[in-house]
Amino acid sequence: MAILIIEDEKKLVDILKRALKTERYSVDVAYDGEDGLAKAMKNRYSMIILDIMLPKKDGFTVCKELRARDIHTPIIMLTARGIEADRVTGLDAGADDYLIKPFGLNELFARIRTVLRRRKTVDSDIRKIESLVMDNRKHEVTRGGKIVPLTPKEYKLLDTLITHQGQAVTRRQLIDHAWGPDFEETNNELNVHINYLRAKINKGSKKTLIHTIRGVGFVIKE
Ligand code: CA
Repeated sequence: MAILIIEDEKKLVDILKRALKTERYSVDVAYDGEDGLAKAMKNRYSMIILDIMLPKKDGFTVCKELRARDIHTPIIMLTARGIEADRVTGLDAGADDYLIKPFGLNELFARIRTVLRRRKTVDSDIRKIESLVMDNRKHEVTRGGKIVPLTPKEYKLLDTLITHQGQAVTRRQLIDHAWGPDFEETNNELNVHINYLRAKINKGSKKTLIHTIRGVGFVIKE
């Protein structure tokens, strides 16, 4: 399993490299954003560990450019700053998770395993959470075996949430996927559609699956 580290702090790179190798990952390194982007586009990695503050191209831009090119390699972002805005910017850019420096190696390994496991379950055509099943081949959603009729927008919103199940999805990510990147809300459209979606999938069940995260967006989880 190959991991790409994009990080300019040589000391940290050496520590990560050594630690990841003992966990039997093979490791590639890029010391700036441009080289990192080039490597990530050329080779297939199982995971990218991406610093935010980088020479030539920052981590947010690298992440966004990869996603814009349809490269969906899981990305864990490293940040020295733990402020909320950064976390949202990272998620908006398409990162899977992020770690605040300084972090312990065990925490990093745990995050890597979680992200890889999550990817395995969301990459398939049939995704499940609790009694909800989303089948992209049939373009069908059921809860407890009963079909849930969704509009195309509701379907796209659920698709985005379930792809990142257990993770916060930002308002911008949801809007980008359901309406497009140029769309600006005028009438709280996202909340309106999320409320319809929530009501439809909650029908006949006591457990709510879609939760609001104030100031960020939404999450689907058990
Ligand atoms: Ca850095």
